[in-house]
Amino acid sequence: MREFGYQRAYDVSGAVALLDGDPDARFLGGGTNLVDLMKTGVERPALLVDVRELPLNRVESTPDGGLRIGATVTNSDLAAHPEVRRRYPALAQAVLAGASGQLRNMATVGGNLLQRTRCGYFADVTADCNKRVPGSGCPAIEGEHHNHAVLGASDHCVATHPSDMGVALAAFDAVVSYETADGPGEVPLTDFYLPVGETPHRETVLPPGALITAVTLPPAPVAAVSRYRKVRERASYAFAIGSIAAALDVQDGRVREVRLAFGAVASRPWRARAAERVLTGAPADAETFAAAADAELAQAKPLPHNGYKVTLMRNLVVAVLSELAEEATR
Ligand SMILES: Cc1cc2nc3c(=O)[nH]c(=O)nc-3n(C[C@H](O)[C@H](O)[C@H](O)COP(=O)(O)OP(=O)(O)OC[C@H]3O[C@@H](n4cnc5c(N)ncnc54)[C@H](O)[C@@H]3O)c2cc1C
Ligand code: SF4
Repeated sequence: MREFGYQRAYDVSGAVALLDGDPDARFLGGGTNLVDLMKTGVERPALLVDVRELPLNRVESTPDGGLRIGATVTNSDLAAHPEVRRRYPALAQAVLAGASGQLRNMATVGGNLLQRTRCGYFADVTADCNKRVPGSGCPAIEGEHHNHAVLGASDHCVATHPSDMGVALAAFDAVVSYETADGPGEVPLTDFYLPVGETPHRETVLPPGALITAVTLPPAPVAAVSRYRKVRERASYAFAIGSIAAALDVQDGRVREVRLAFGAVASRPWRARAAERVLTGAPADAETFAAAADAELAQAKPLPHNGYKVTLMRNLVVAVLSELAEEATR
């Protein structure tokens, strides 16, 4: 690891000022991703600005009945928060499905959203990788890609975004707030991550040096009946090979409202809007759920070793929505 400077920030404007115009400086949340990448040489910051003492560590109700989650709230505190568990249970489940207890105690909301892909070539500085070194190539397409993207990928990168939390936030229309030297900004989480296209090294719409300050969940009564289900290759902590966040409201046997997002299948948490369109107003039965999954997955472009994800996601949609339909009509 190369030498680097360290400063702790105590207020938002001070934190932003420390990064302003310095492309070699990075914010440090829990460090559970950034420090790992520094050890392998993927990240080589000259300065770390520690944000954990910023006054951004609270989960608060908003006047309209939503929740505002500070960027330095730890994953553990978020998952345990009574209002998150009551109003957005799939979010609490998603956070608890990620990493281990020790990691969740350190990891922050801002850092979780900005964690980097787990593509093995990206993590290996001796390999080519368009995301790490633009224009160098993507060995995953011809090589190891069994856990790579089937939706929204490009010929330049097929990596997935690994966040579990982000999938539930995408389903519930979360909005990301940030601060820059030029003032504050906000963007819906579903627009926060850029499509891969020809520029996989550009991952989000955040301006350079922007500090994520909060994530706001609008009120969503439908979220009270919601679930996050994650499939992984071993029972102990591991990243998803496919996951789903779903919420369902059923009235008179028909879907009145639905939220659906997929994880581990695209370069960003994938809001399943085509499936939602099929579901809304349709009978809440397994046939509709399968048709909705098929509508969304018609866009899938699997590679030779990750086609299983299409079947996996179809089965997840049908299973989770069937459970929620039963729960919603109880
Ligand atoms: C063994 C292991 C297993 C894991 N399993 C899972 C899993 O199953 N599911 C899952 O979702 N995650 C998993 N993780 C990832 C873990 O959740 C992330 O490492 C963590 O959420 C990152 O948060 P952090 O606060 O530690 O971020 P950091 O490592 O501190 O930062 C990550 C990035 O975010 C930037 N950053 C941090 N805070 C801010 C801010 N407020 N504004 C702007 N930029 C900021 C940093 O500069 C850096 O670029 C795992 C990690 C490990 C090591
Ligand atoms: S999939 Fe993306 S991250 Fe992985 S090697 Fe290809 S360009 Fe790099």
